[in-house]
This record gives sequence, C-alpha cells and structure tokens, in this order.
Amino acid sequence: MNKSIELKDGSQIAVIGGGPAGSFFAYFALDFAERYGMDIGVDIIEGKDFNCAGPTGCNHCGGIVSESLIQSLSTEGIILPSNVIRRGIESYTMHLEQGSTVIETPLNEQRIASMFRGLGPRGIKDNEQLSFDNYLMELSHQKGATLISGRVTETKKTPDGIVLKTKDGFEKKYDLVVGAVGLNARTFKLFQQINPSFVPPKTTKTHICEFHLGKDMINEYFGNSMHVFLLNLPNIKFGALIPKGNYVTMVLLGSDINKEIVAAFLESEPVRSCFPEDIDLNDYMPCQCYPSINILGAKSAFDDRMILIGDSASSKLYKNGIGAAYITAKAAARTAIFEGVSKHDFKKHYQPVCNELDRDNIIGKFIFLVTTVIQKSPILKKGLLRMVVKEQKKEKNKRYMSSVLWDTFTGSAPYTDIFKRTLNPILIKNLIGNTFSGLIIGTKSK
Ligand SMILES: Cc1cc2nc3c(=O)[nH]c(=O)nc-3n(C[C@H](O)[C@H](O)[C@H](O)COP(=O)(O)OP(=O)(O)OC[C@H]3O[C@@H](n4cnc5c(N)ncnc54)[C@H](O)[C@@H]3O)c2cc1C
Repeated sequence: MNKSIELKDGSQIAVIGGGPAGSFFAYFALDFAERYGMDIGVDIIEGKDFNCAGPTGCNHCGGIVSESLIQSLSTEGIILPSNVIRRGIESYTMHLEQGSTVIETPLNEQRIASMFRGLGPRGIKDNEQLSFDNYLMELSHQKGATLISGRVTETKKTPDGIVLKTKDGFEKKYDLVVGAVGLNARTFKLFQQINPSFVPPKTTKTHICEFHLGKDMINEYFGNSMHVFLLNLPNIKFGALIPKGNYVTMVLLGSDINKEIVAAFLESEPVRSCFPEDIDLNDYMPCQCYPSINILGAKSAFDDRMILIGDSASSKLYKNGIGAAYITAKAAARTAIFEGVSKHDFKKHYQPVCNELDRDNIIGKFIFLVTTVIQKSPILKKGLLRMVVKEQKKEKNKRYMSSVLWDTFTGSAPYTDIFKRTLNPILIKNLIGNTFSGLIIGTKSK
C-alpha cells in the first residue's frame, strides 16, 4: 500500500486532454526527466483541433491570463508571443448601478493578457493570430511530447500499467495515465472505471458569448479596459466584458446561469451603456455557450499509475483556472518524475497542493458571499464606489480597496491574501467613512 512505483528509462506516460493542464504537465514532466537524466515518452491525446474556429476548437473560457501566471511562466522562460495575445489589459472599469470608475493596474504595467483558447469565435477571419491552447500544446511538442489526435473511449487496468483505446482504434499500454480532461463527465466515467473511489468535481453553469464589434468600436467603447459589473441581479456573482481583437467576450459567473439571467444582465442599464446606443447585440453575436465551472475540488483524484489534474482535480474558485491548472500540472509532474507514480506517492506529494487550493477556495467562497451582500446593498455600493474613486487619485500604495478589488477580479492573488488585506484597519475605516458620507452627499461618477 505504501510502496512507491518509480518511472524509469523507456517509461510511457499518456496525458488525456491537451488543454492547459495537459500541456503544462507534458512540458514539465519532459523537462524534469531531462534534468534527472531519464528518457521517457509522453503522448498527449486530444479530441479537439485548437486551430478551428467556434466550439470545435474552443475550451470555453473568458480568456484572461492573470498577472501571476504571466510572471510564473516568464520565470520558466515561457513568454506568450504577441500573436497569441489579443489585447493587453491595462485597467478594470468597475460598473455598479450607482456609477462606474476605472481601477488602474496596481503596478502600472500591462501584464494581463486576453486571448482565445481556440482560433476564435465562429466565422473569425483573423488568420494571423494563434490559439492559446494550441500554443501550449506546440510548446510541449517541442519539448518532446507526441501529439495524438483522438478521443479516449476506453481505459483498462493491468497489473503493470493502464491500457487506453481511442475512438479511431489507437491502443497502447502506459506506465502512467494523466487525466487533464477538464470537466468532461463522460471521460470522468473512464477514470472511475480504473479508480472507483474518484469523485469528480462539483460544477455549476456559467455563460460566455462573443460580440463581433470590430476594432474601431472596441477602441472607442472599451479600450484596453476590462469592464466588470457588480449588479444586484439574481445568481450572478460576477459579470465581465473583455475586449479581444475585433471581439468583446462577455462572461457571467455565478450559479446555474440561464437564458433569462443573461437577458436581464444584457438589458441592465450599466451593461447597455457600455455599448453604442442603437445596436441590437443579437446581430453581433456569432457564438455563445453555457459551460460548466469547477466550484468544489474532486476527491481521490489519483491512484496507482493514474492522476487527475487541472479542472478535473482542484481549481481556483471562479478565477484564474489556467493558473491553477499550471500549479496542479507542475506538482503532478514533479511527483511523477522525482518521487513516483503510486497512490502513496501522489498522496504524499501531490495531494497537499490540491488541499491548499481547496482551502483557499473556502476563503474565496466567503469573499464572494460578502460581495453578494455588497451587490444587494445600494448604500454599501455607494460607499465602495466613493472609496475607489478617491483612492484612484492617491499614490498606488495607498489604494487599499482598489488593490483588493483588482486581485479579486483578476484572480492574481490567493483569496487568503486578499482576505487578510480586507482586515486592514485603514481600509475598514475608509469604507465606513465613505459609506456614511455617501449616505449624506450621494455619489454618481463616471
Ligand atoms: C465561463 C468561464 C470563464 C473562464 N474564464 C477564465 C479566465 O478568464 N482565465 C482563466 O485562467 N480561467 C478561466 N476559466 C477557467 C478555465 O477555463 C479552466 O480552469 C481551464 O480551462 C482548465 O484547464 P484544463 O486543461 O484543466 O481543462 P480544459 O481546458 O477543459 O481542457 C480539457 C481538455 O481535455 C480534452 N478531453 C476531454 N476528454 C477527452 C477524451 N476522452 N479524449 C481526449 N481529449 C479529451 C478536451 O477536449 C479539452 O481540450 C473560465 C471558465 C469558465 C467556465
């Protein structure tokens, strides 16, 4: 039970899923093995073609690469090329029913990128740009991973490995199988067949749609600012409009988002006022979907010779899922190469990383609960708006609430850090002060 199973020269690893988690795993496993002097084979098996436009090539996401991930990647020597980045985000514009205000990046650097996971929305004509997921998969290919196109449809455990079969008849036995399958319920069943104690993550429905507005309209109405909305609308925890090349991506996060909730959001005055007055947004919408998001980590996401990573295991609540995929993928690769691939090895060296993400999400849930209370209270929202408007005129190191909101919106910092900063007595004093002055004076700013 407590024995380690070690990989050796010639060992074969299958990575099911070539999204960020799968590509990061392959990249780091090959990198660590090279440093360790071990010669392994890594196959990435992916069912989608990320060079396709529309749903066939897309892994449904807001497409924001957080500051913390950009920083981590650059320390690994991975710099996102300009043809993957559709726009550098310089600021956030926060919209409430009471008014709106711009929150500048705390460090005055353009370090958040917006991108498309596939080639882009249905009908996209821009052939010079590259898909983010394709870029990462190519990166792991350059490291030595073999890319296999197909969907895995069968998994079978043998005494010394796991056999995979794809829909197209490909079959191979592996020493380790890595599940980087996002939130694909059908593929989860294949993992439950080889590890019956695996409990998939809990999910809820979100919404994404794209508006094809063209560069001129986007420059005029959105610029390089991501627009975020804290509105008193049921089920919505967070709404955003993200400019990307010729498109604006709308993202709604919360619980069980449906058509009616989307319509209410689009019809609200703060959202309408971001777009030109006379346009019918339905005429500009080539793509929309209701993807699931991970809201509670998986249980028993590993066993002898198998491990799940990224969204399939633990993620960051509502934000920076790609950053969490990077963290879990790297931890799994480190464990597999340097420690071993038994249940015991993963429990000792991989589980603590997932536990840390899960614990941070408990604080995240509390932060979003407080945000919901604020969303419902016009008085608190007025106070918050007054405070941020004032802070934006101050030196950067005195913008306490702005930095809390920035990191909550971008997902750049752990929720635990954000929470600790909300306990700053100056922040609390200023929020109370601005809420009372807001009651007396009132605020409407733009
Ligand atoms: C509305 C919304 C907005 C989001 N916005 C952001 C954001 O702005 N920034 C951010 O960092 N994160 C965001 N996320 C989260 C982010 O999308 C995920 O955390 C991230 O995609 C997880 O990566 P992954 O590799 O684990 O899974 P995925 O990206 O889902 O990749 C899984 C891959 O596995 C493949 N696969 C599944 N089953 C099989 C099979 N049987 N055979 C072969 N291949 C298979 C799939 O085709 C897919 O390519 C958002 C999520 C949602 C829902």
